[in-house]
Amino acid sequence: MKRKTLGILGGGQLGRMLALAAQPLGVRVTVVDPDEHAPAQVAAEHVPLPYDDWDALDELGLSDVVTFEFENVPEDSLKRLERLRPVFPRANALRAAQDRWEEKSLFLELGISAARTLRIDTSEDAEKAFDELGPYLLKTRRLGYDGKGQIFVTDRSRAAEAHAELQGVPCVAEEKVNFQRELSVVLCRGQDGTIVSYPVVQNTHKSGILHLSLCPAPNMSPELEAKAKSLATRLAEKLDYVGVLALELFERDGELLANEFAPRVHNSGHFSIEGSVTSQFENHVRAVLGFPLGSTDPVGYSAMVNLIGDLREPAALLALPDVHLHDYGKEPRKNRKVGHVTVRAQSREELDARLAEVLAIVSAPSSASA
Ligand code: AMP
Repeated sequence: MKRKTLGILGGGQLGRMLALAAQPLGVRVTVVDPDEHAPAQVAAEHVPLPYDDWDALDELGLSDVVTFEFENVPEDSLKRLERLRPVFPRANALRAAQDRWEEKSLFLELGISAARTLRIDTSEDAEKAFDELGPYLLKTRRLGYDGKGQIFVTDRSRAAEAHAELQGVPCVAEEKVNFQRELSVVLCRGQDGTIVSYPVVQNTHKSGILHLSLCPAPNMSPELEAKAKSLATRLAEKLDYVGVLALELFERDGELLANEFAPRVHNSGHFSIEGSVTSQFENHVRAVLGFPLGSTDPVGYSAMVNLIGDLREPAALLALPDVHLHDYGKEPRKNRKVGHVTVRAQSREELDARLAEVLAIVSAPSSASA
């Protein structure tokens, strides 16, 4: 039997968790990441070269299949890789997710509701958008993440200034959605079209960065759960998608509005390492290599708390029952995701009690968090 090999563009924490999930399957992983301290190197062969370095891409192209852990893959690099090996997810998904205008147009085409969105090319467009939308979020079409590249425009007279602050690049203006909560669906689609979905998760953000995910989301009616999954499924099928895909949603008055989708494993799916029969990372590896997918059934109730800025002393967290720490091996830095904690329990009440203890430890002031 010949063992499979997987190439990953990007060696951050997502690449690391993918590589760790690939190991028990006997899959050898190579990652390309210019960072000499790339977190994935603990579980993968690391090529420390830029994403557009032809030699690095050729090395990645020696793997059976290539995937990526971030969406801003340079266009030419993607084309080169596609000439060498199958790349999953395919380029169409990546292109749609790279550009917020294309993404919203795709939602519209598929009948997936989203915040009213206007295209902004000039400062006049930014001003006129206020007349139509009222207070809105100005977001760069490309390269935004974790709330970066976006400004909340609350006043017409500040619209042009906000656009200038974003360097006048092509943007979108999105109606400010007064949602009750944020949800996400993580699914995985195999090469044969089989789809498995994780339970819908409820997410809380702080300063635009994911803080907490609860699995399953509390108070989900079966109808809303089914609706959320059907929207993500529609997207995956339209794109003939292979691998893990995440769809972020706003719930407003019982209605679901799509915020954005990620053509990759997603932070709101990290709970699945301990909280599901098969993690999102293992299922992504299985999907892109053409293996059967694993069960996404939950293992009890779980919560995921991101560790932002710096890690805590592990002992206090590890003293709690069914609490699992993931240290990505990164240097502390303000607003940087350096790890996460998964909390698991047999009931919602038990989860809430354990989570309160974890949050008290995680949010205690730390000398290194400045
Ligand atoms: P994004 O980078 O687009 O996912 O935005 C990061 C976070 O900002 C989201 O998870 C929401 O909490 C908030 N946000 C983004 N877009 C909107 C919107 N149109 N209305 C209200 N809140 C938003």
